[in-house]
Amino acid sequence: MSLFPTYNRFPLTIVSGKGTTVTDDQGKDYLDFVSGIAVCNLGHRPVEVQKAIENQLDQVWHVSNLYQIPVQEQAAKRLSEAAGLDYVFFCNSGAEANEAAIKLARKHTGREKIITFKQSFHGRTFATMSATGQEKIQEGFGALLPTFEYFPYNDVQQIEEVHDGHVAAIMVEVIQGEGGVVPGTREFLQAVQEKCEELGALLIIDEVQTGIGRTGKAFAYQHYGLDPDIVTSAKGLGSGFPVGAMIGKKGLEDSFAAGSHGSTFGGNPLASAAVNATLEKVLNPMFLEEVIEKGNHFKKQLESALAHFQSVEEVRGQGLIVGVSTSGEAIQLVHTLRENGLLAVIAGPNVLRLLPPLTVEYEELDKSVALITEAIQVYEDRLQKV
Ligand SMILES: *Cc1c(COP(=O)(O)O)cnc(C)c1O
Repeated sequence: MSLFPTYNRFPLTIVSGKGTTVTDDQGKDYLDFVSGIAVCNLGHRPVEVQKAIENQLDQVWHVSNLYQIPVQEQAAKRLSEAAGLDYVFFCNSGAEANEAAIKLARKHTGREKIITFKQSFHGRTFATMSATGQEKIQEGFGALLPTFEYFPYNDVQQIEEVHDGHVAAIMVEVIQGEGGVVPGTREFLQAVQEKCEELGALLIIDEVQTGIGRTGKAFAYQHYGLDPDIVTSAKGLGSGFPVGAMIGKKGLEDSFAAGSHGSTFGGNPLASAAVNATLEKVLNPMFLEEVIEKGNHFKKQLESALAHFQSVEEVRGQGLIVGVSTSGEAIQLVHTLRENGLLAVIAGPNVLRLLPPLTVEYEELDKSVALITEAIQVYEDRLQKV
């Protein structure tokens, strides 16, 4: 093996995909409820995005950000309007988007402290790993960026008790994705917003996993009427073409003046073409409405099918990011499901995480519910035997 073993890889080689279905090198089909971890929100090889990329391939692939790039400007306009914000900085990943947000918040406020939350996930670069409130991700790498403070998620009181003039920003996920598909409560998210206003700190919302229609809104914070200063996006933004973005409010632009930050590839013409075609589809209000309906259907079906299982604690999430929390090891469910033709991942040791493409069909949702029910039955039968 010539790859660093940074991933525990499943024994599965996917060779093709279309819509919700992927096919392995043995010719076996799977329903893909991983979607490259909330990346393929329009399913595999969505026609419109493929056409947009092909069209751009025939024009120019890459030009430096030292030149005008109309396709990038157009993507920025769409994305900033979708977020109700004003400016976009394009990069190549979620970590880079958060890195840009951290740099901008520190530069703009002249302060260094950033509050994040336990069990959060913000990326793997030094700053974003330091922002991430999980020791297992930071272990062994030596001194972290010292300016982060980790608060318990969904704890309104502890946030209300912060009185500190050194806070540059509070950075928060609306739903903790990697942390176990844990939705923030309305009261908590509101308290975070109010605390930012009180302290003169920026509100940074990490929408890398929850954005681009995943919850049935362009961005998950829009369910709560929040007013962030900075929003970060990546995963679903290019439908599988690698691209990330930091979106910010008017007034921040002077702190990110020429020469202050950059990215060679960020928002290159191919990436921007993918973003434009993705947003064109996802931002359609009817499309988003359907995501909400599908999500409600999925959760309701799961809840009623799983209610009688002792090992199932809760079905939670919003739109089409759904977690099934169990008292057992969720990875065992993932293995059974894969054998039976459904791809899923875990979020923390006990949560089965389901991220179907937003284009998933009701029939596919129902089929997955049957497969999940069966997998949990297998799991509990096995427990009975020991
Ligand atoms: C995946 C993820 C990231 C990191 O994105 P990369 O593209 O892997 O760098 C950051 N924040 C959240 C919430 C994520 O889910």
